[in-house]
Amino acid sequence: MISFLNLKQINQQYLEELSQAARDVIASGWYLLGERVSKFESNLSKYVGVEHAIGVGNGLDALRLILRGYIELGVMAVGDEVLVPANTYIATILAIADNGLKPVLVEPDTNTYNLDLSQLERHITSRTRAIMVVHLYGRVCWSEGLESLAAQYNLRVIEDNAQAIGASWRGRKTGSLGDAAGFSFYPGKNLGALGDSGAVATDDAELADVVRALANYGSRVKYVNEFKGLNSRLDEIQAAFLDVKLKYLDIENRRRREIANAYCRFIDNSAIVLPAGRGHAAVFDEEEHVWHLFVIRSEARDLLRRHLEAEGVQTLIHYPIPPHRQGAFSEMAALSLPVTDRMHETVLSLPISPVMTDIEVERVVSAVNNYSAHSFSISQGLQA
Ligand SMILES: *Cc1c(COP(=O)(O)O)cnc(C)c1O
Repeated sequence: MISFLNLKQINQQYLEELSQAARDVIASGWYLLGERVSKFESNLSKYVGVEHAIGVGNGLDALRLILRGYIELGVMAVGDEVLVPANTYIATILAIADNGLKPVLVEPDTNTYNLDLSQLERHITSRTRAIMVVHLYGRVCWSEGLESLAAQYNLRVIEDNAQAIGASWRGRKTGSLGDAAGFSFYPGKNLGALGDSGAVATDDAELADVVRALANYGSRVKYVNEFKGLNSRLDEIQAAFLDVKLKYLDIENRRRREIANAYCRFIDNSAIVLPAGRGHAAVFDEEEHVWHLFVIRSEARDLLRRHLEAEGVQTLIHYPIPPHRQGAFSEMAALSLPVTDRMHETVLSLPISPVMTDIEVERVVSAVNNYSAHSFSISQGLQA
């Protein structure tokens, strides 16, 4: 079976360095908010190209803390609206709702899976304060039009960069494009820790300062609490692991691109829609995509999934239920989001990871190519 993502194998590559990092942290006797967190923050900010990076507990908290920071700074207030793509992972929307802000769901573009930037303006009201863009599946969501729209309406642009660390737009890395960005280092992300962690990146010194305090009980000076903060800190041991893995991120992303290019070149099946690049062909700018996920679409998605399973290829669905159809957001159940609904019915993620071999890639390609919705249904005794 070709597994969707083999985390053990990914981390095994760096076993010696990771073990040494763990030993050093254990021996140091210092486990939170120490020099390893500072060092990783400094390396991350250099990598991304921002003034400030703040390590936090996870990616959801990174986004929550950015919005809380803006509320504390008076940039936004409870009840204000934040535009967000309707097909994102639910964390993006939870971060908005958690702060008493109103998520305004905007349909994605079927071809890029990203926020349909042409739909933004008609959702802007007097209460809109920010646009939360998500570089979904590792693909950059950015344009000059987005920058000028944000400037015109005085909106903050916050990047959910959980899936796209290492991608860039015209030489600028994601996470440095907007006013602030949230990162996740969940183990399965392109830069994965060995547990939970995340980061906030920004050039805004005031926001950075407030976020740093909010993540540590709302305190800048020990036992002096200026804000009703939370406890969301990056562990020294995770920072040490992340510093090891950050060095290899570009190499890993390059391998992901190689695999994605092979899929785009060699998958040839009229029942399957490949991720579309420019001009709707599978052609991508070198840096615009870091392929956190390789997502195809198919009308009979569940049949295709069973076919691939039978061929020894594990797939996943990102995501099976859109946020507005979740029980958690029953207040959004009446929204009409046909593009989002269609997407969730048809998407399927093929295995992609830096440790996949060429032979595994070829096996995935041939398993996808020999799928025929009709013949597979017959062989399984199903109605086509
Ligand atoms: C993973 C993810 C998050 C949340 O990150 P955690 O570290 O799991 O809290 C937020 N947004 C998106 C798009 C994600 O993929």
